[in-house]
Amino acid sequence: MIEVRNVSKRYGRHQALDNISFKVKKGDILGFLGPNGAGKSTTMNIITGYISCDSGEVLIDGKNILDEPKEAKSRIGYLPEIPPLYNEMTVRKYLEFMFRLKRIKLPMDEHISKICTDLSIDDVGERIINHLSKGYRQRIGLAQALLGDPPVLILDEPSVGLDPAQIIEMRNLIRKLGENHTVILSSHVLTEIQAVCDNIVMINNGKIAAAGSIDHLMGTGRDTTIVRIIIEGREQGIMSALKGIDGIIRVTSLGETERGCYEFRIESKKDIRRAVSRAVARTDYAIMLMQPAGQSLEDIYLEIISGNNN
Ligand code: ADP
Ligand code: MG
Repeated sequence: MIEVRNVSKRYGRHQALDNISFKVKKGDILGFLGPNGAGKSTTMNIITGYISCDSGEVLIDGKNILDEPKEAKSRIGYLPEIPPLYNEMTVRKYLEFMFRLKRIKLPMDEHISKICTDLSIDDVGERIINHLSKGYRQRIGLAQALLGDPPVLILDEPSVGLDPAQIIEMRNLIRKLGENHTVILSSHVLTEIQAVCDNIVMINNGKIAAAGSIDHLMGTGRDTTIVRIIIEGREQGIMSALKGIDGIIRVTSLGETERGCYEFRIESKKDIRRAVSRAVARTDYAIMLMQPAGQSLEDIYLEIISGNNN
């Protein structure tokens, strides 16, 4: 349904996207996960034909977004990071305006009313957009994306700036839309993605860092053990003490958790807890917590975005 093939994009000397490829099957909800600045919005702007790429191509239902823009774009509803709202218009007038702009051939009043009902915004149809809360404004942006019944929805961080109740509302909405749309949903928050998505593409520094179903990503079945540990002391000093232990594959620093205490994630071939305990005992540092941890999706994500692997 959506195919991104070897797409690269530079802004001046900054390589924002470096040869990324992925596919989204019809009916999937794909989570596009990555920290701020990873290249999510750039990718979405390219998929929707909003900006061009330097190399590579994007196919929507087999239609190249640059060669057949009309056919490809009519299949996509896009909610950009900053929704294109006309703040001084009423909700209804704005949706009518966008309907005409998109040259949609459906009965207008009926179509807009249906979308407004589905998104629970029919009570604000006559209100000026600028006077509405962020939660409403985000749903109006979504309504705009749904005009013309496109089979594909591209949603760029739709939950940013919403309060917890609105986030849950938005999540339920996306889940419901996912029942009859192919969706790409971007976020820098793992739980956000985990709650609604079947498959995940993780992006970092303009490169795909991991991809697959949640089960696949979690069960990449390492025959290693992972321990989370919090130690009081100097971060670098602790790091070198830990790295000196026999059998350690990787130590990742997760930062300061409380004053003077640092959390680390230790990956090793065997149960390393006794050796860690002895190694720390030979220093002035103190173990505040040590806990075996599974390879959760969060571990994988942290590992990828910490960029501190060794
Ligand atoms: P994300 O959406 O994952 O936060 P973006 O795609 O917005 O990331 O940005 C990726 C990188 O490209 C960032 O380093 C950002 O600063 C840079 N960037 C994005 N848009 C522009 C632009 N128009 N001009 C220059 N640099 C840009
Ligand atoms: Mg972004």
